[in-house]
Formats: sequence, structure tokens, C-alpha cells
Amino acid sequence: MNLIIFGPPGAGKGTQSKFIAEKFNLFQLSTGEFLRKEITKNTDIGKKIYSIINSGSLVSDNIVSDLIEKIISNNEYYNRIIFDGYPRSLSQAKNLNNLLDKYKQKIDLVLKLSVSLETIKKRILERKNLEKRPDDNEKIAIKRFETYEKSTEPVIEYYKKMNLLKVIDGERSIDQINKEISDIIALI
Ligand code: AMP
Repeated sequence: MNLIIFGPPGAGKGTQSKFIAEKFNLFQLSTGEFLRKEITKNTDIGKKIYSIINSGSLVSDNIVSDLIEKIISNNEYYNRIIFDGYPRSLSQAKNLNNLLDKYKQKIDLVLKLSVSLETIKKRILERKNLEKRPDDNEKIAIKRFETYEKSTEPVIEYYKKMNLLKVIDGERSIDQINKEISDIIALI
């Protein structure tokens, strides 16, 4: 089973993905994690990624597409991937389709964690962050949310039309969300 998890930045998709990966023996493919690792290497590309991520925009497709193919083509992860943070745009969704076809796989389920901008803002401000002023954090959070609505929501619509989408109320507790997701996956 391959699945995708969507949700605005701050919705908790990383936390839920980790839980699902452990419980169902899936490989968590987090493009955000991969990018953050690149940043710590302090290379030229890492520096570019850092400034793009901190502006709330998306990095260019080619930076993540090699990683995606590397994982999909690896037999160790055959048909057991949870895509966390990919695809984020229609062009990435098209790329993903092509790669899945190429390696004889498909998406079985798409989850969307639904969380309002107000809740995201509250969560961001609750996090203690000594490096940045809260108003900076809030500004970036809003920009990320806008990027999500503009670039990623159309992708979710696309999977909805394919009848693969399940919308989860992401405003509840982590445990409640875990439970609902587990129940959905158990039925697949
Ligand atoms: P995430 O950890 O999934 O919230 O991702 C953090 C940031 O990394 C995002 O706000 C984007 O700037 C960047 N990013 C993550 N995944 C992608 C992707 N598939 N395409 C482009 N940018 C991405």
C-alpha cells in the first residue's frame, strides 16, 4: 500500500506519518526532512533551500524529484511508501504518476488533515522559538498556508476526483487522529 498525506504546514502530518509508518511498516518519505538535512550540510544548494523554505515558498521540482525516483525505484520500499509533503503541486503529482507507472505501483489512499489557518497560527505562536520574533513566525506561517492553498489544494482536488481522498478533522488530539487514520487504513 502506498499513501499520501496532505495538510497545511503545522497540521501535524509529520507526526501522523511517523505513527502510520511505524504501525503499518511503511517507509516515510518526507521531502521536508530531506530538505532540512540538505540545509545542515551547508552547501550552496543547502543555502538556497534555506532561504526558499524561510520565505514560505516551495523549492523547485528538480530538487526533490531525484529523491522521489530513488525511493520509488528501490525494491526495499516497493509498495510501502507514505508520501509526506509530496506532491505539493500539479506538476509534482504528474511526475509522481509517471514514476509510479514506471515502477508498477499506484496510490491506494490519500489523507488530508484539515486544519484552519487560525489553529495553525495559534500552534506556531505557542511553540517557543527564541531565534525569531513571533511576528516573523506568524508571517511565514501565513505565507506557507497561502502556498498550500494555491499550489497544493488543486492536487487534493485531483485525488478527490479519483475517489482516493479521505478528509480527517485535524483539529482534534493527536491520539484521536491516530485512531481514525488507523481505522481507515485497516479497511484498505
Ligand atoms: P514540510 O516539512 O513538509 O512542512 O516542508 C517544509 C518546507 O520544505 C515547505 O514549506 C517547502 O518550502 C519545502 N518543501 C517540502 N516538500 C516540498 C516539495 N515536495 N516541493 C517543494 N518544496 C517542498
